[in-house]
Amino acid sequence: MPPAVIIVGGGPVGLIVALMLGRAGIAVTLFDEGDIVHSQPRAATIHPATLDILDDLGVYALIEPQGIVCPIVNYYDGKLLLASFDHALLKGETRHPWVLQCEQDKVSRTLFGMAQAVPHITLRTASKVTGCREHGDAVEVLIETADGRQERHQAGYVVGADGARSTIRTAIGVEFAGFTYPERCMIIGTPYDFAADGYAYRNYIADPQEWYNLFKISWQGPPGIYRLVVPLHLSEPLDADRALATAQRKLQRFNPRPHHYEIAFYDSYTVAQRVASTFRKGRVLLAGDSAHLNSPIGAMGMNSGIHDAVSLAGNLIRVLHGEESDAALDRYARQRRFVATAHVQTATIANKQNMEQRDPIKRQHYRDEMRRCAQDPALAKAFLMRTALIDSLRDAAKIP
Ligand SMILES: Cc1cc2nc3c(=O)[nH]c(=O)nc-3n(C[C@H](O)[C@H](O)[C@H](O)COP(=O)(O)OP(=O)(O)OC[C@H]3O[C@@H](n4cnc5c(N)ncnc54)[C@H](O)[C@@H]3O)c2cc1C
Repeated sequence: MPPAVIIVGGGPVGLIVALMLGRAGIAVTLFDEGDIVHSQPRAATIHPATLDILDDLGVYALIEPQGIVCPIVNYYDGKLLLASFDHALLKGETRHPWVLQCEQDKVSRTLFGMAQAVPHITLRTASKVTGCREHGDAVEVLIETADGRQERHQAGYVVGADGARSTIRTAIGVEFAGFTYPERCMIIGTPYDFAADGYAYRNYIADPQEWYNLFKISWQGPPGIYRLVVPLHLSEPLDADRALATAQRKLQRFNPRPHHYEIAFYDSYTVAQRVASTFRKGRVLLAGDSAHLNSPIGAMGMNSGIHDAVSLAGNLIRVLHGEESDAALDRYARQRRFVATAHVQTATIANKQNMEQRDPIKRQHYRDEMRRCAQDPALAKAFLMRTALIDSLRDAAKIP
């Protein structure tokens, strides 16, 4: 029996779609070209709106012990603390008025284990999708296995959750308009305890020369790991011999100290702001990074991708159970594309501009606004409703 739905990509987004469909008794096959759990440092911040969703799925109880509960987020201009926000202001709006710092590979590993236990889900690792084409009332995907075999599989619907370089998006000819920033970012992990220097577990630090995001991401060790994200100009060396020295220099510039920092890991990545022209083409649906990409400043990529996954799975379940027409999938595409453009793109582009602002008048305006916002509980709550992605979910639900 062919599956009702094929999911391409076993990141957090694809795994959540699989979990929800499988639990609803719908046969799904998920293909991933790798082994699903990736080790390079990626998402670590999970916002309250997403924690509520993960709680409903039974995931929260499993990841909370692996993460760090963080009610506070601080905003700096250089060394100057501008604003401190306490997510406790969101009590009554969410069951989780805090952020959970928990690395993406831990979330994926947890989801993978849960999906393995659901009889309707078939998980195929080391299976690369190389093509996708719709014909009649089915969609066919082409698979290349690790030993070079070619396979063809059909389903009623295909979900492309195959990340930024989505093969599915390309195969169905959906445009991915936007731009890529002309610089890279470096991500550096260190066991140095920045709490001893007065930093909270989550800190955004504006600086016209070199901005920083500093987050505690795990208790590993102890004492645990802090992660610094910092821009990396194209002229800065990244080859294996010199990258460690670059990482050391970045840490020392951020927080000078007489001793070397121990460096647990480092990596670099390019940042793009892009949204697919549509999240649905016929029987093929896009979700997560295959549908939208953004700068990690504000931690919205995986979070909004998980929101896509839950919306898409809910609509697919209703369609496949005959409770709603296929038009529900167009509504999914409208609602989630609206969030990607009006909320996520707008917020993340503005976040980067604020972090690196060089114009003294605009910089002063940012300082004044952050101070005013933090001092007024109503403004502070409104700020957190946006950053915690609660507003985006509520606004999406209003779109018919
Ligand atoms: C440094 C960094 C920090 C970040 N921090 C945050 C954060 O704190 N909070 C946040 O919300 N977001 C963050 N993000 C963004 C977040 O990592 C992504 O938005 C998230 O991974 C998207 O999940 P996904 O499931 O859509 O795609 P992915 O996680 O990219 O998963 C895609 C999957 O598809 C598979 N695949 C790809 N092509 C094929 C193919 N042809 N055939 C089969 N399988 C295929 C891949 O192997 C992969 O497993 C960060 C990103 C970076 C780079």
